[in-house]
Amino acid sequence: MLGLMMDRPLLISSLLTFATHSHPRAEIVTRRVEGDIHRTNWLGISQRSAQVAHALARLGIKPGDRVATLAWNTYRHMELYFGVSGSGMVLHTINPRLFPEQLAWIASHAEDRILFVDLTFLPLVDAIRSQLKSIEKIVLMCDAAAMPAGRSDLICYEELIAPEATHITWPDFDERTASSLCYTSGTTGNPKGVLYSHRSTVLHALASLHKGALNVDRDSVILPVVPMFHVNAWGIPYSVAMSGAKLVLPGPGMDGKNLYELIDNEQATLLLGVPTVWLGLLTYLDSIGKRLDSVKHAVVGGSAAPLSMIKAFDEKHDVFLIHAWGMTETSPLGSVNAPTAELMALPKEERYKKQLKQGRPMYGVELKIVDDDDNELPRDGKAFGRLMIRGPWVTKGYFHHDAEVLTDGWFDTGDVATLDPDNYMQIVDRRKDVIKSGGEWISSIDLENVAVGHPAVKEACVIGVAHPKWDERPLLLIVLKDNHTATKAEILGFVGQHIAKFWTPDDVIFVPDLPHTATGKLHKVPLREQYAQHLMG
Ligand code: ADP
Repeated sequence: MLGLMMDRPLLISSLLTFATHSHPRAEIVTRRVEGDIHRTNWLGISQRSAQVAHALARLGIKPGDRVATLAWNTYRHMELYFGVSGSGMVLHTINPRLFPEQLAWIASHAEDRILFVDLTFLPLVDAIRSQLKSIEKIVLMCDAAAMPAGRSDLICYEELIAPEATHITWPDFDERTASSLCYTSGTTGNPKGVLYSHRSTVLHALASLHKGALNVDRDSVILPVVPMFHVNAWGIPYSVAMSGAKLVLPGPGMDGKNLYELIDNEQATLLLGVPTVWLGLLTYLDSIGKRLDSVKHAVVGGSAAPLSMIKAFDEKHDVFLIHAWGMTETSPLGSVNAPTAELMALPKEERYKKQLKQGRPMYGVELKIVDDDDNELPRDGKAFGRLMIRGPWVTKGYFHHDAEVLTDGWFDTGDVATLDPDNYMQIVDRRKDVIKSGGEWISSIDLENVAVGHPAVKEACVIGVAHPKWDERPLLLIVLKDNHTATKAEILGFVGQHIAKFWTPDDVIFVPDLPHTATGKLHKVPLREQYAQHLMG
C-alpha cells in the first residue's frame, strides 16, 4: 500500500521561491569583475532570475538545452544558476582553467547552445571561437558601459534581461530532470560529464545544512572561494537559498589580500576552499600579522589538508578547519569532519589527528571499502581498500557515455581509504598515486602532509618512480617558501621523525614550482613521466 502524501517535486525553483518568501532581504554580496562591491538580496536574485528565464525563452532556448557559463562567483552567475535550471534548461558550468582545447571539446560534447561569459574570459573564448561550433550566441556578463567596442557578435547581459518581466511562474516537471552539468577535469583521457538532477541537488542542499555537515543557518555568513564553475561551488548557492545565510562572493579575487579584505569587511563566519587557497590566505595573514576574527569554520576539500594547516587555522586564528571529501561525481559532499562536542573535548594534538580524517558521510550517502575482489573490508580504522559510495546525489553514469560505471549499485571513487568504527573515513591515497614498494603500500598523501610540516616547505609532492629492486620507491619534490632554504638531509631528517623507515623517500628534488590540474590538485602524471628513470641508475 502506498502512502497518501503529496508528491511535490524537489525542484531548484522551489529553493528560489522559498528564499524569496522566507528571507527576501538576506544579502548576496559580490566583488565584481569590474572591481567594485555589489549588494543584492534574494528578492533581487529572484527577479533577475525570472528575467534570465524569459530572455532565454525569447532567444529560443528550450527545456533540456544546455546553457554554458564561463564565470566567477558572482550574483549574475547566481541568477543563471536559478534562472536556467528553474526553467528546465541545463546549466553547464565550464572551468576556465582547463586547456583551451579541452574547453572547446567539452562545450561541443555538451552541445551548448549559448555561452555566458565574464569579461575576464573573453580573450579565451575569442581564441577558440571557431571550435565552439554548437554555440549560437555569446552573452557578456557585464553592463552596457563595459561592453567592448565594435563587438556586434556579443550580447550584453544587462541589455538582454532589462526588457523582461521580473515575475515568472516556474514550471513544474519531474524532479529527476537534469539541472546542471559539470565535467571532471580528466587528468587522463577526455573529461566526463556529470549530470545533476533537481532532486539530487535539493537533497544534497538539505543534507549540507545540518550540524554534522556544514552547520549553516540564517546567521551564517558564507564565503565560498570554491568556484561556481566547479561542482556548483560545492552546492553552496543552493544551501544558502535554503538557509537564508548571507552569501559573500569573491568574483575573481581569490588571492590572500582580496579574500582577507572581503572576509573582514563582510564578517564572514564560514569559508570554503581547497588547500592551495588556504595556503595563500594563511601566508598573507602571516605577512601582515592579522587574524581571522569573524571566521568560526573553514571547510577544506579537493585535496588532503595537512596537519600543519589544521594547526595554523586553530592556533593562529581560532578557526576549526572542517575537513571534507567529495568528487564531481558526488555533488560533491560525501563526508564531512564537522566539530562535535566529543571531538572538541579531546586534547588538541589528538583532535588534530582526528581532523586529518575526511569525516563521516552525511545521512543519504553510504560509504564502504572493498578489496580487489569486491569483498567488503572491516570498519576498524586499519584495513584500507577501494572506497565505494552510493546515494541519491551520486552519479550513476556519465553524460553521453555508454560505459557502465557502477558495481552492484556502488560507484568506485578511485580512492583508497580506511573507515573506523565511528564511520570516520580517511583517504590513504588516490589509487593511481599509491606507491607500491616491495609489496608494501606507501601513501603519497601522508608523506606530502608530513613534508609540508617543515617550516621551509611551501609545497610537497610525492610520486612513485621505478626502482630496480623494490618496483617503486617514493621521490619527494619540494617547493621552498620564499626566502627559505633547506638541504636534502634536513628534509629527510624531518620527515624521518614522523614515518616508518621504509617510507623514507629515496631522493629529494627542489623545484621552483609544481604542476596543478584545473581544479588545483597536484598534477602527478607529467612528473611521473619526467622522473620515470630517476632511480634506475
Ligand atoms: P576532478 O579534479 O577530477 O574534477 P574532483 O574535484 O571530482 O576532481 O576530485 C575528486 C577527488 O579529489 C577525490 O576522488 C579525491 O581523490 C580527492 N579529494 C577530494 N577531497 C579530498 C580530501 N579531503 N582529501 C584527500 N583527497 C580528496
